[in-house]
Amino acid sequence: MNIQENILIAPYTTFKIGGPARFFCAVATEDGLVEAVRYAKGEGLPFLVIGGGSNLLFSDSGYAGLIIKNEIMGRTFTDDGTLYSVVDAFAGEDWENLVRETVEKDLFGIENLSAIPGKVGASPVQNIGAYGAEVSKVIVSVRVLDTSTMQFVELSQLDCKFSYRDSIFKHEKGHYIVTRVRFRLCKLGELNIEYGALQKYFVEKDMTKPSLKEVRDAVIEIRKSKLPDWTMWGTAGSYFKNPVIEAARFADLRSEYPELPGFVEHDGRVKVSLGYILDKICNAKGLSVGNVSVYEKQALVLVAKPGATATEVLNLANELMRLVKEKTGIVIEGEVEWAVA
Ligand SMILES: Cc1cc2nc3c(=O)[nH]c(=O)nc-3n(C[C@H](O)[C@H](O)[C@H](O)COP(=O)(O)OP(=O)(O)OC[C@H]3O[C@@H](n4cnc5c(N)ncnc54)[C@H](O)[C@@H]3O)c2cc1C
Repeated sequence: MNIQENILIAPYTTFKIGGPARFFCAVATEDGLVEAVRYAKGEGLPFLVIGGGSNLLFSDSGYAGLIIKNEIMGRTFTDDGTLYSVVDAFAGEDWENLVRETVEKDLFGIENLSAIPGKVGASPVQNIGAYGAEVSKVIVSVRVLDTSTMQFVELSQLDCKFSYRDSIFKHEKGHYIVTRVRFRLCKLGELNIEYGALQKYFVEKDMTKPSLKEVRDAVIEIRKSKLPDWTMWGTAGSYFKNPVIEAARFADLRSEYPELPGFVEHDGRVKVSLGYILDKICNAKGLSVGNVSVYEKQALVLVAKPGATATEVLNLANELMRLVKEKTGIVIEGEVEWAVA
Protein backbone atom coordinates (compact mmCIF):
# COMPACT_ATOMS: atom_id res chain seq x y z
CA MET A 1 0.00 0.00 0.00
CA ASN A 2 1.40 3.33 -1.07
CA ILE A 3 0.25 6.06 1.30
CA GLN A 4 1.07 9.52 0.01
CA GLU A 5 1.05 12.72 2.02
CA ASN A 6 -0.37 16.17 1.25
CA ILE A 7 -2.08 15.31 -1.99
CA LEU A 8 -4.33 17.94 -3.54
CA ILE A 9 -7.90 16.58 -3.66
CA ALA A 10 -9.32 18.96 -6.29
CA PRO A 11 -8.24 16.84 -9.31
CA TYR A 12 -10.01 13.81 -7.79
CA THR A 13 -13.39 15.57 -7.82
CA THR A 14 -15.66 16.83 -10.59
CA PHE A 15 -16.10 20.15 -8.74
CA LYS A 16 -12.29 20.45 -9.08
CA ILE A 17 -12.26 22.04 -5.64
CA GLY A 18 -10.55 21.02 -2.40
CA GLY A 19 -7.27 21.53 -0.58
CA PRO A 20 -4.74 18.82 0.32
CA ALA A 21 -5.57 15.47 1.87
CA ARG A 22 -3.18 14.79 4.73
CA PHE A 23 -2.92 11.19 3.52
CA PHE A 24 -4.09 9.60 0.27
CA CYS A 25 -3.98 6.09 -1.19
CA ALA A 26 -5.56 4.18 -4.05
CA VAL A 27 -6.57 0.56 -3.43
CA ALA A 28 -6.99 -2.04 -6.17
CA THR A 29 -7.87 -5.11 -4.05
CA GLU A 30 -10.01 -5.96 -1.04
CA ASP A 31 -6.83 -6.79 0.91
CA GLY A 32 -5.46 -3.36 0.05
CA LEU A 33 -8.66 -1.79 1.32
CA VAL A 34 -8.40 -3.67 4.62
CA GLU A 35 -4.81 -2.53 4.98
CA ALA A 36 -5.73 1.11 4.32
CA VAL A 37 -8.57 1.11 6.85
CA ARG A 38 -6.32 -0.62 9.43
CA TYR A 39 -3.73 2.10 8.84
CA ALA A 40 -6.25 4.91 9.41
CA LYS A 41 -7.63 3.23 12.53
CA GLY A 42 -4.14 2.55 13.87
CA GLU A 43 -3.16 6.20 13.42
CA GLY A 44 -6.48 7.44 14.82
CA LEU A 45 -7.25 9.20 11.52
CA PRO A 46 -10.66 9.87 10.01
CA PHE A 47 -10.97 8.21 6.60
CA LEU A 48 -13.18 8.63 3.56
CA VAL A 49 -13.58 6.32 0.57
CA ILE A 50 -14.08 8.02 -2.77
CA GLY A 51 -14.90 6.84 -6.28
CA GLY A 52 -15.03 9.49 -9.01
CA GLY A 53 -15.53 12.40 -6.59
CA SER A 54 -18.65 13.50 -8.48
CA ASN A 55 -20.93 13.94 -5.49
CA LEU A 56 -18.51 15.52 -3.05
CA LEU A 57 -17.46 19.02 -2.09
CA PHE A 58 -14.18 19.19 -0.17
CA SER A 59 -13.11 22.11 1.97
CA ASP A 60 -10.52 24.59 0.69
CA SER A 61 -8.37 23.62 3.67
CA GLY A 62 -8.45 19.97 2.58
CA TYR A 63 -9.08 16.77 4.52
CA ALA A 64 -7.22 16.07 7.77
CA GLY A 65 -7.32 12.31 7.42
CA LEU A 66 -6.89 9.49 4.89
CA ILE A 67 -8.66 9.57 1.52
CA ILE A 68 -8.98 6.04 0.11
CA LYS A 69 -9.67 5.94 -3.62
CA ASN A 70 -11.46 2.72 -4.43
CA GLU A 71 -10.03 1.24 -7.64
CA ILE A 72 -11.13 -2.38 -7.24
CA MET A 73 -11.97 -3.48 -10.77
CA GLY A 74 -13.77 -6.35 -12.47
CA ARG A 75 -17.23 -7.27 -13.73
CA THR A 76 -18.91 -10.52 -14.64
CA PHE A 77 -22.18 -11.38 -16.35
CA THR A 78 -23.92 -14.65 -15.43
CA ASP A 79 -26.91 -15.97 -17.29
CA ASP A 80 -28.88 -17.83 -14.60
CA GLY A 81 -31.09 -19.63 -17.12
CA THR A 82 -34.12 -17.48 -16.30
CA LEU A 83 -35.29 -14.20 -17.76
CA TYR A 84 -32.55 -12.49 -15.83
CA SER A 85 -28.79 -12.04 -15.89
CA VAL A 86 -26.76 -11.45 -12.77
CA VAL A 87 -24.15 -8.74 -13.10
CA ASP A 88 -21.40 -8.47 -10.50
CA ALA A 89 -19.43 -5.24 -10.73
CA PHE A 90 -16.63 -4.19 -8.43
CA ALA A 91 -16.65 -0.77 -6.83
CA GLY A 92 -13.93 0.89 -8.91
CA GLU A 93 -15.63 0.18 -12.25
CA ASP A 94 -16.83 3.21 -14.13
CA TRP A 95 -20.63 3.45 -13.90
CA GLU A 96 -21.14 4.67 -17.47
CA ASN A 97 -18.97 1.86 -18.91
CA LEU A 98 -21.10 -0.66 -17.05
CA VAL A 99 -24.34 0.83 -18.41
CA ARG A 100 -22.95 0.82 -21.96
CA GLU A 101 -21.97 -2.83 -21.69
CA THR A 102 -25.34 -3.92 -20.27
CA VAL A 103 -27.14 -2.21 -23.15
CA GLU A 104 -24.76 -3.81 -25.67
CA LYS A 105 -25.68 -7.16 -24.12
CA ASP A 106 -29.41 -6.36 -24.42
CA LEU A 107 -29.97 -6.26 -20.68
CA PHE A 108 -32.71 -3.97 -19.39
CA GLY A 109 -32.78 -2.03 -16.13
CA ILE A 110 -30.13 0.68 -15.97
CA GLU A 111 -30.38 2.30 -19.41
CA ASN A 112 -32.14 5.38 -17.96
CA LEU A 113 -29.12 5.86 -15.70
CA SER A 114 -26.79 6.39 -18.66
CA ALA A 115 -24.07 9.06 -18.49
CA ILE A 116 -24.13 9.54 -14.71
CA PRO A 117 -20.54 10.24 -13.69
CA GLY A 118 -18.85 8.19 -10.97
CA LYS A 119 -18.07 4.62 -10.00
CA VAL A 120 -20.15 1.53 -9.31
CA GLY A 121 -19.27 1.57 -5.58
CA ALA A 122 -21.04 4.88 -5.04
CA SER A 123 -24.18 3.93 -6.98
CA PRO A 124 -25.97 2.40 -3.95
CA VAL A 125 -24.73 5.15 -1.61
CA GLN A 126 -27.16 7.78 -2.82
CA ASN A 127 -29.31 5.30 -4.75
CA ILE A 128 -28.57 7.09 -7.99
CA GLY A 129 -31.58 7.97 -10.04
CA ALA A 130 -32.59 9.71 -13.23
CA TYR A 131 -35.41 9.79 -15.78
CA GLY A 132 -37.82 7.80 -13.62
CA ALA A 133 -35.34 5.05 -12.64
CA GLU A 134 -33.47 4.27 -9.44
CA VAL A 135 -30.57 1.85 -9.17
CA SER A 136 -32.02 0.22 -6.02
CA LYS A 137 -34.72 -1.41 -8.19
CA VAL A 138 -32.13 -3.70 -9.81
CA ILE A 139 -29.70 -4.22 -6.92
CA VAL A 140 -29.79 -7.70 -5.41
CA SER A 141 -27.04 -7.26 -2.83
CA VAL A 142 -23.97 -5.23 -1.97
CA ARG A 143 -20.71 -6.68 -0.73
CA VAL A 144 -19.13 -4.45 1.89
CA LEU A 145 -16.26 -4.27 4.30
CA ASP A 146 -17.84 -3.77 7.74
CA THR A 147 -15.23 -1.52 9.30
CA SER A 148 -16.46 -2.20 12.84
CA THR A 149 -15.64 -5.94 12.57
CA MET A 150 -13.23 -5.75 9.58
CA GLN A 151 -15.19 -8.60 7.96
CA PHE A 152 -16.66 -8.68 4.46
CA VAL A 153 -20.43 -9.17 4.45
CA GLU A 154 -23.16 -9.26 1.84
CA LEU A 155 -26.01 -6.81 2.48
CA SER A 156 -29.34 -7.62 0.85
CA GLN A 157 -31.34 -4.98 -0.98
CA LEU A 158 -33.57 -4.64 2.11
CA ASP A 159 -30.56 -4.26 4.41
CA CYS A 160 -29.50 -1.24 2.34
CA LYS A 161 -32.69 0.69 3.33
CA PHE A 162 -32.95 2.46 0.00
CA SER A 163 -35.16 5.47 -0.54
CA TYR A 164 -35.03 8.62 -2.68
CA ARG A 165 -31.29 9.51 -2.99
CA ASP A 166 -30.72 7.72 0.28
CA SER A 167 -29.49 4.46 1.82
CA ILE A 168 -27.95 3.03 4.97
CA PHE A 169 -24.52 4.04 3.60
CA LYS A 170 -25.35 7.73 3.93
CA HIS A 171 -26.46 7.39 7.53
CA GLU A 172 -23.72 5.14 8.81
CA LYS A 173 -20.79 6.99 7.28
CA GLY A 174 -17.59 4.97 7.28
CA HIS A 175 -19.29 1.87 8.69
CA TYR A 176 -19.59 0.06 5.38
CA ILE A 177 -17.28 0.26 2.38
CA VAL A 178 -18.75 -1.11 -0.82
CA THR A 179 -16.47 -3.45 -2.78
CA ARG A 180 -18.94 -5.04 -5.20
CA VAL A 181 -22.56 -4.59 -6.29
CA ARG A 182 -24.74 -7.41 -7.61
CA PHE A 183 -27.43 -6.39 -10.10
CA ARG A 184 -30.24 -8.44 -11.62
CA LEU A 185 -31.06 -7.26 -15.12
CA CYS A 186 -33.84 -8.51 -17.34
CA LYS A 187 -33.27 -9.99 -20.78
CA LEU A 188 -36.76 -9.10 -21.97
CA GLY A 189 -37.48 -6.07 -19.88
CA GLU A 190 -39.93 -3.28 -20.43
CA LEU A 191 -38.65 0.14 -21.28
CA ASN A 192 -39.39 2.92 -18.83
CA ILE A 193 -40.13 5.99 -20.94
CA GLU A 194 -42.91 7.55 -18.90
CA TYR A 195 -40.72 10.33 -17.55
CA GLY A 196 -41.73 13.73 -19.06
CA ALA A 197 -38.49 14.62 -20.84
CA LEU A 198 -38.17 11.14 -22.38
CA GLN A 199 -41.79 11.05 -23.49
CA LYS A 200 -41.42 14.46 -25.11
CA TYR A 201 -38.21 13.37 -26.85
CA PHE A 202 -39.85 10.33 -28.47
CA VAL A 203 -43.04 12.21 -29.41
CA GLU A 204 -40.95 14.89 -31.13
CA LYS A 205 -38.96 12.22 -32.99
CA ASP A 206 -42.18 10.37 -33.80
CA MET A 207 -40.76 7.14 -32.34
CA THR A 208 -43.51 5.03 -30.81
CA LYS A 209 -41.48 1.91 -30.01
CA PRO A 210 -37.89 2.87 -29.23
CA SER A 211 -35.31 0.13 -28.69
CA LEU A 212 -33.19 -0.29 -25.57
CA LYS A 213 -30.26 1.40 -27.30
CA GLU A 214 -32.48 4.26 -28.51
CA VAL A 215 -33.62 4.93 -24.94
CA ARG A 216 -30.01 5.06 -23.76
CA ASP A 217 -29.10 7.40 -26.65
CA ALA A 218 -32.09 9.61 -25.83
CA VAL A 219 -31.04 9.88 -22.18
CA ILE A 220 -27.49 10.80 -23.22
CA GLU A 221 -28.73 13.42 -25.67
CA ILE A 222 -31.17 14.99 -23.19
CA ARG A 223 -28.52 15.07 -20.48
CA LYS A 224 -26.05 16.76 -22.84
CA SER A 225 -28.57 19.48 -23.58
CA LYS A 226 -29.34 20.13 -19.90
CA LEU A 227 -26.17 19.54 -17.93
CA PRO A 228 -22.75 21.16 -18.09
CA ASP A 229 -19.86 19.07 -19.41
CA TRP A 230 -18.21 18.03 -16.14
CA THR A 231 -14.94 17.25 -17.90
CA MET A 232 -14.64 20.98 -18.62
CA TRP A 233 -16.54 22.73 -15.80
CA GLY A 234 -16.47 22.20 -12.08
CA THR A 235 -19.82 20.74 -11.02
CA ALA A 236 -21.38 17.90 -9.05
CA GLY A 237 -24.66 17.87 -10.98
CA SER A 238 -27.79 18.67 -8.96
CA TYR A 239 -26.63 20.39 -5.83
CA PHE A 240 -29.92 19.85 -3.95
CA LYS A 241 -32.47 17.07 -3.61
CA ASN A 242 -36.01 17.70 -4.80
CA PRO A 243 -38.02 18.28 -1.62
CA VAL A 244 -40.76 15.79 -0.69
CA ILE A 245 -43.66 17.53 1.07
CA GLU A 246 -47.13 16.73 2.46
CA ALA A 247 -49.93 16.64 -0.14
CA ALA A 248 -51.87 19.46 1.62
CA ARG A 249 -48.80 21.66 1.57
CA PHE A 250 -48.35 20.97 -2.12
CA ALA A 251 -52.00 21.88 -2.79
CA ASP A 252 -51.43 25.25 -1.05
CA LEU A 253 -48.34 25.94 -3.12
CA ARG A 254 -50.15 24.89 -6.30
CA SER A 255 -52.90 27.44 -5.62
CA GLU A 256 -50.21 30.11 -5.64
CA TYR A 257 -48.08 28.60 -8.44
CA PRO A 258 -50.46 26.58 -10.66
CA GLU A 259 -47.68 25.20 -12.87
CA LEU A 260 -45.47 23.89 -10.09
CA PRO A 261 -44.65 20.26 -11.07
CA GLY A 262 -45.10 17.57 -8.42
CA PHE A 263 -44.93 13.76 -8.46
CA VAL A 264 -46.97 11.75 -5.96
CA GLU A 265 -44.80 9.30 -4.01
CA HIS A 266 -45.91 5.85 -2.81
CA ASP A 267 -46.61 7.27 0.70
CA GLY A 268 -48.91 10.00 -0.68
CA ARG A 269 -46.42 12.81 -0.20
CA VAL A 270 -45.37 14.87 -3.21
CA LYS A 271 -41.88 15.26 -4.66
CA VAL A 272 -41.68 18.83 -5.91
CA SER A 273 -39.51 20.08 -8.78
CA LEU A 274 -36.87 22.20 -7.12
CA GLY A 275 -35.53 23.17 -10.54
CA TYR A 276 -38.89 24.90 -11.19
CA ILE A 277 -38.93 26.60 -7.78
CA LEU A 278 -35.40 27.91 -8.20
CA ASP A 279 -35.93 29.02 -11.79
CA LYS A 280 -39.51 30.31 -11.94
CA ILE A 281 -40.22 31.28 -8.35
CA CYS A 282 -36.81 32.38 -7.08
CA ASN A 283 -35.33 33.64 -10.38
CA ALA A 284 -32.10 31.91 -9.43
CA LYS A 285 -30.63 31.40 -12.92
CA GLY A 286 -27.69 33.73 -13.33
CA LEU A 287 -27.08 34.18 -9.58
CA SER A 288 -23.44 33.79 -8.65
CA VAL A 289 -20.93 34.16 -5.85
CA GLY A 290 -17.36 34.76 -7.05
CA ASN A 291 -16.49 32.04 -9.53
CA VAL A 292 -19.54 29.85 -8.83
CA SER A 293 -22.89 30.33 -10.52
CA VAL A 294 -26.28 28.74 -11.01
CA TYR A 295 -26.20 26.93 -14.36
CA GLU A 296 -28.16 28.84 -16.98
CA LYS A 297 -29.90 25.72 -18.37
CA GLN A 298 -30.79 24.03 -15.05
CA ALA A 299 -31.11 25.95 -11.80
CA LEU A 300 -30.49 22.85 -9.64
CA VAL A 301 -26.93 22.69 -10.91
CA LEU A 302 -24.03 24.85 -9.72
CA VAL A 303 -21.02 25.42 -11.96
CA ALA A 304 -17.58 26.45 -10.80
CA LYS A 305 -15.03 28.26 -12.96
CA PRO A 306 -11.31 27.61 -12.49
CA GLY A 307 -10.19 29.26 -9.26
CA ALA A 308 -13.54 28.70 -7.52
CA THR A 309 -13.49 27.88 -3.82
CA ALA A 310 -15.62 25.66 -1.59
CA THR A 311 -16.56 28.76 0.40
CA GLU A 312 -18.04 30.33 -2.74
CA VAL A 313 -20.06 27.16 -3.44
CA LEU A 314 -21.36 27.06 0.14
CA ASN A 315 -22.25 30.77 0.12
CA LEU A 316 -24.22 30.44 -3.11
CA ALA A 317 -25.93 27.27 -1.86
CA ASN A 318 -26.90 29.03 1.40
CA GLU A 319 -28.35 31.93 -0.55
CA LEU A 320 -30.46 29.52 -2.65
CA MET A 321 -31.66 27.72 0.48
CA ARG A 322 -32.64 31.08 1.98
CA LEU A 323 -34.53 32.13 -1.16
CA VAL A 324 -36.49 28.87 -1.37
CA LYS A 325 -37.42 29.10 2.33
CA GLU A 326 -38.50 32.74 1.94
CA LYS A 327 -40.66 32.13 -1.16
CA THR A 328 -42.15 28.71 -0.40
CA GLY A 329 -41.46 27.92 3.26
CA ILE A 330 -39.64 24.74 2.16
CA VAL A 331 -36.34 23.81 3.79
CA ILE A 332 -34.20 22.15 1.11
CA GLU A 333 -31.38 19.65 1.60
CA GLY A 334 -28.11 19.25 -0.27
CA GLU A 335 -27.57 16.21 -2.49
CA VAL A 336 -23.84 16.85 -2.74
CA GLU A 337 -21.92 15.77 0.33
CA TRP A 338 -19.78 18.25 2.26
CA ALA A 339 -16.65 16.24 3.02
CA VAL A 340 -14.77 17.72 5.91
CA ALA A 341 -12.33 16.38 8.54
C1 LIG B 1 -22.71 16.32 -14.21
C2 LIG B 1 -23.23 15.41 -13.12
C3 LIG B 1 -24.48 14.81 -13.27
C4 LIG B 1 -24.97 13.97 -12.27
N1 LIG B 1 -26.19 13.39 -12.46
C5 LIG B 1 -26.69 12.57 -11.52
C6 LIG B 1 -27.96 11.94 -11.71
O1 LIG B 1 -28.62 12.10 -12.74
N2 LIG B 1 -28.43 11.14 -10.73
C7 LIG B 1 -27.72 10.91 -9.59
O2 LIG B 1 -28.21 10.15 -8.73
N3 LIG B 1 -26.52 11.48 -9.37
C8 LIG B 1 -26.00 12.31 -10.31
N4 LIG B 1 -24.77 12.90 -10.11
C9 LIG B 1 -24.05 12.66 -8.86
C10 LIG B 1 -22.98 11.56 -8.93
O3 LIG B 1 -22.62 11.30 -10.26
C11 LIG B 1 -23.47 10.25 -8.29
O4 LIG B 1 -23.83 10.47 -6.96
C12 LIG B 1 -22.40 9.16 -8.36
O5 LIG B 1 -22.93 7.93 -7.96
C13 LIG B 1 -21.19 9.46 -7.47
O6 LIG B 1 -20.18 8.51 -7.76
P1 LIG B 1 -18.68 8.75 -7.37
O7 LIG B 1 -17.95 7.49 -7.63
O8 LIG B 1 -18.17 9.95 -8.05
O9 LIG B 1 -18.82 9.00 -5.80
P2 LIG B 1 -17.99 9.99 -4.89
O10 LIG B 1 -18.39 11.40 -5.20
O11 LIG B 1 -16.56 9.67 -4.93
O12 LIG B 1 -18.59 9.62 -3.46
C14 LIG B 1 -19.94 9.92 -3.16
C15 LIG B 1 -20.28 9.32 -1.78
O13 LIG B 1 -20.18 7.91 -1.85
C16 LIG B 1 -19.22 7.42 -0.91
N5 LIG B 1 -18.53 6.31 -1.56
C17 LIG B 1 -17.90 6.31 -2.77
N6 LIG B 1 -17.43 5.08 -3.03
C18 LIG B 1 -17.77 4.30 -1.97
C19 LIG B 1 -17.58 2.93 -1.64
N7 LIG B 1 -16.93 2.10 -2.45
N8 LIG B 1 -18.07 2.47 -0.46
C20 LIG B 1 -18.75 3.29 0.37
N9 LIG B 1 -18.96 4.59 0.13
C21 LIG B 1 -18.48 5.08 -1.04
C22 LIG B 1 -18.30 8.60 -0.64
O14 LIG B 1 -17.66 8.48 0.62
C23 LIG B 1 -19.31 9.73 -0.66
O15 LIG B 1 -20.04 9.72 0.54
C24 LIG B 1 -24.24 13.74 -11.10
C25 LIG B 1 -22.97 14.33 -10.95
C26 LIG B 1 -22.47 15.15 -11.96
C27 LIG B 1 -21.09 15.74 -11.82
